[in-house]
Amino acid sequence: QAAETVLAVNNIEVVYDHVILVLKGVSLTVPKGGIVALLGANGAGKTTTLKAISNLLRAERGEVTKGSIEFQGERVDQLSPNELVRRGCIQVLEGRHCFGHLTIEENLLTGAFTRKDGNVAIRRDLEAIYEYFPRLRQRRSSMAGYTSGGEQQMCAIGRAMMSRPSMILLDEPSMGLAPQIVEEIFEIVRILNSSEGVSFLLAEQNTNMALKYATYGYILETGRVVMDGPAQALRENEDVKEFYLGVS
Ligand code: ATP
Repeated sequence: QAAETVLAVNNIEVVYDHVILVLKGVSLTVPKGGIVALLGANGAGKTTTLKAISNLLRAERGEVTKGSIEFQGERVDQLSPNELVRRGCIQVLEGRHCFGHLTIEENLLTGAFTRKDGNVAIRRDLEAIYEYFPRLRQRRSSMAGYTSGGEQQMCAIGRAMMSRPSMILLDEPSMGLAPQIVEEIFEIVRILNSSEGVSFLLAEQNTNMALKYATYGYILETGRVVMDGPAQALRENEDVKEFYLGVS
């Protein structure tokens, strides 16, 4: 029996500044509990796809001009970003975006802004985040701006988790980080996926690492999906090896 679909992007086009067509009909699905990788070179349209889903394009003068987006079986393309977060889908932006002058703990607490279930539940979840990210517990009182890139990435994911999401759109978590730290972060993604059931759509230029953790992948080239398949099949594909994994 096929897994239930949590996110479906159906043939979307995105235009910036009314004229620049950047996504030319992108479709993808994420099964419930899946980790799906969105791969492609710099500029292929990964970030644009994630921002289209979470409705963050307006600030960039972008808009979805065709197609539809469904989350948990309902159309969400007209919802505000906050409403989408309330329904359980949240984006972790590229470049981490912690509040540099707040402590790690204060940053994590900002992630609970859409919740109405009160302080006890929020404190309990904060404790759970510290269990998943022991480094964040150690650094809880440090200003985020003075922590390492890896710690800031963990903080950004931890903050997203504080909204109790069922799906995280994770943009380029490996960016600028040492391989060992990237591995540490992907391991936590895997644990959040298996223990909390969070589904992930993971935009990555680091094809090799992403395909190690994802179950399925899509490859974008200049605004189109040019290939998709189970992670294992993509890893073994000759074109993927040559153009994206740097082996041939
Ligand atoms: P990156 O790794 O840089 O995030 P990406 O695959 O996520 O790459 P996008 O950032 O989605 O790619 O960009 C896709 C294309 O859209 C690029 O050609 C980029 O120049 C263009 N683009 C992105 N943002 C805007 C914008 N605000 N206005 C006009 N064009 C944009």
